[in-house]
Amino acid sequence: LAMSDIFPVKPNRPREETRTSKVAVRQTGQMRVVFATAELSPVATVGGLAAAAAGLGAELRRLGVDLDVVMPDYGDVALVDETTMPLEVPDWVGSATIRVGFHPVVGRLHLVSVPGMARPHPYLQANGEGWHDNSDRFFRFARAVAAFIDRDPPDVVHLNDWHTGATLAALADPPPTVVSIHNLAYQGISDGSWLDRIGPRAAHYEWWGGVNPLSGALALADRIVAVSPHYATEIITPAGGFGLDEPLRNRGDDLIGILNGIDSEMWDPAHDPLIAAPFDAASLDARRSNRTALLARVGLPDDDVVLATVVTRLTHQKGIDLLAPLVPLLAQIPMRLAVLGSGDARLAAQLHSLVTEYPDTLAFVDGYDEALSHLMFAGADLYLMPSRFEPCGLTQMQAMRYGAIPVVTAVGGLVDTVTDADVHRDGTGFVADRAEREDLLAALFRAERRVRDRRRRSAIQKRGMAIDWSWHEPAREYLALYGELAANPRIRSESSRR
Ligand code: ADP
Repeated sequence: LAMSDIFPVKPNRPREETRTSKVAVRQTGQMRVVFATAELSPVATVGGLAAAAAGLGAELRRLGVDLDVVMPDYGDVALVDETTMPLEVPDWVGSATIRVGFHPVVGRLHLVSVPGMARPHPYLQANGEGWHDNSDRFFRFARAVAAFIDRDPPDVVHLNDWHTGATLAALADPPPTVVSIHNLAYQGISDGSWLDRIGPRAAHYEWWGGVNPLSGALALADRIVAVSPHYATEIITPAGGFGLDEPLRNRGDDLIGILNGIDSEMWDPAHDPLIAAPFDAASLDARRSNRTALLARVGLPDDDVVLATVVTRLTHQKGIDLLAPLVPLLAQIPMRLAVLGSGDARLAAQLHSLVTEYPDTLAFVDGYDEALSHLMFAGADLYLMPSRFEPCGLTQMQAMRYGAIPVVTAVGGLVDTVTDADVHRDGTGFVADRAEREDLLAALFRAERRVRDRRRRSAIQKRGMAIDWSWHEPAREYLALYGELAANPRIRSESSRR
């Protein structure tokens, strides 16, 4: 089977022909979408964006979408049946090529090479600081994505986060475009000299004398999707908008929220080779073996004291610094805490020193460890998420799927996914009003009292485990959005165009 049999490289079609062919394409139920992302599991994984891109992409293909997943070529990714195409880009980009082939997990994949892109980590140096040329790298990438779109315009373009934002600057008349906001805190702001280069619509990217690849994309996209409904309401407020609340407010109904899903095959406690003992809602007692294995792995005593876990990037966003004032108080609840985390070196050092001081209360595994993360959900009584903000959050869903009861702050996607069992009869966890020591402590205290009651505890667990967190519904919502845009490319109201 040759690559060309499955993926014929289409000739560069003029716009008019593209428009006519769109109708034919939709009649056969095949819609072509270019989906651009800086991360994709398992090719390049940093956070939730990787999982979201992989999960949504796979489900969209299952629904019949002809999906071109386009991401940077960070190097060392082998594709089968590969072809390489040059992309026509301006001189400042240098050379740009796109490799198309099959990845054993992802399937058909497009990898964009531009100067400086190939690195061991997508964004960070070994010392945890960003690469000094991240703006260059992703402006080049976005320009190459624009060239790819231009050579064969799809029915819909779907961009994700700031890394892909400048794509729209280079396209004078792009296909209908959706931009997903996975995290508004990262905008890729850089110096204004880029405005002379990034393309004919660069003016939309001007941001207080600099250039903001995300703000430009938000201004030019036809629709904007926040990765949870509640996050969509937070980002239009000054407190949650990271400076972009006003432009987002101005987009009115063009901004919607669609909750991320999780990969329900990868996260299935009944069939998970990464945990000590598989289980389901009818065999919750088997969780005990996972708990024992987890406690042994992290070096905490195996007794009846309630165990909470955390699986996270170590950042301010995730409220990891709030654990420091909590840990000394945990023994009084009583409760133990095991943290798996990677990221900020100072937060890691803080956790290491807390472990030295409270070795029977706290365990910390420094790193990104997918196998251990599964055991952290399968063996925990509670799952703690003290986030200051959380666009969607995946780990609370992963936790609930594995019967670990979430204790979360009332922010972003956590509001959409966790309800307080002390407030609602059908509650699935415990909610702290704010990311503050007192509120978190109170929520942990309430949670500990509840999980001691075996009957109430298993009722909460079973409710969480019964919820369908898969990409099934979210992907349908995206598909409906694509369909609406493809049917009416300029659906966006003139009043919201600036
Ligand atoms: P974010 O994207 O802000 O980091 P999310 O909750 O949306 O947070 O997604 C994080 C994803 O990365 C989840 O799938 C989670 O299981 C995984 N993850 C985060 N930290 C670690 C870690 N230290 N080890 C293993 N997996 C991790």
